[in-house]
Amino acid sequence: MQSLRLTVIVPCYNEAAVLPKSAAVLGEIVERLIKDHQISSQSKLLFVDDGSSDQTWRLIQDLETQNPIYSGLKFSRNFGHQNALMAGMQVAGPVSDAIVTIDADLQDDPELIPKMVVRFKSGSDIVLGVRNDRSSDSTFKRWTAETFYRLMRKIGVQLVPDHADYRLLSQRAVAALMRYQETNLFLRGIIPQLGLPTSKLYYQRQPRFAGESKYPFKKMLAFAMDGITSFSIAPIKAIMSLGVVVIAISLGMLIYAGIRFFTGNVINGWTSLMMSLWFLGGIQLIGISIIGEYIGKIFAEVKHRPRYIIETDDYSQAQQPQLVA
Ligand code: UDP
Ligand code: MG
Repeated sequence: MQSLRLTVIVPCYNEAAVLPKSAAVLGEIVERLIKDHQISSQSKLLFVDDGSSDQTWRLIQDLETQNPIYSGLKFSRNFGHQNALMAGMQVAGPVSDAIVTIDADLQDDPELIPKMVVRFKSGSDIVLGVRNDRSSDSTFKRWTAETFYRLMRKIGVQLVPDHADYRLLSQRAVAALMRYQETNLFLRGIIPQLGLPTSKLYYQRQPRFAGESKYPFKKMLAFAMDGITSFSIAPIKAIMSLGVVVIAISLGMLIYAGIRFFTGNVINGWTSLMMSLWFLGGIQLIGISIIGEYIGKIFAEVKHRPRYIIETDDYSQAQQPQLVA
């Protein structure tokens, strides 16, 4: 390919502590690739400020004035990591032959980018960065991540273990991805479903060099829950099986009580009555809440709300409903 326009998309949420260094490191890599004629001189780094409340946006603006390879987008508020990636791809996708998404904290080895470009040139539409191991994670994070991947596999969602959101996508892979219209997009689960030529590159993930993780446990749990309920109704089926088991147990209890009744040993069973009442009540509540989770998802999807609002966009020019001639 002659001149490959590459855009490196970097989601940033309160990343002022890491941004100067990561912008320099990533900028150096992109400039090196341009100098070596690996990619076109129109290639860019695109920072998506996901509603930061610190100096992140000011730093991005400074970068923009320093060097034309830097550019930025600013969300009106925090819309989340996945939406920041979507925005980057929606904006850069049509004008890039390939895009790379990478976190702002340099935990993912940026030296993989040139290798991703080589893979792209030899025909991969999707190049996934996969971690060698999880040694840079806490035991707790490692355990929760393992459980999550195992659970997802069990319910039939094909995820690539230890691959997060560090990847290269070709223009047509981005275009294919944009056809998935759901508001709640779980990128890691959808991308393997595109079915385009895919390859993997392995790397060692580093600990964060500054700043704090923007994924506290609560956010991680919500993310995992989203991943599961976006792809599978296995939890609803599990509740169904549980219901069958409970009914079988209660039938057994009924038979037992009947035998006792006819043999003259009437049970004065307050305990068993209360037990089954609470037990069944609990199961019903769980069942309802799981169904509620899915209905909530449907509710969110049918509203067709935008995934994000870009503060710097001019929404007065937004598309008006077309009148049919
Ligand atoms: N991020 C974001 N919006 C959020 C949370 C995180 O854009 O609401 C960005 C964050 O700035 C970083 C990337 O997503 O570039 C990954 O976040 P982080 O490094 O905190 O996650 P971890 O590596 O701890 O899983
Ligand atoms: Mg990180």
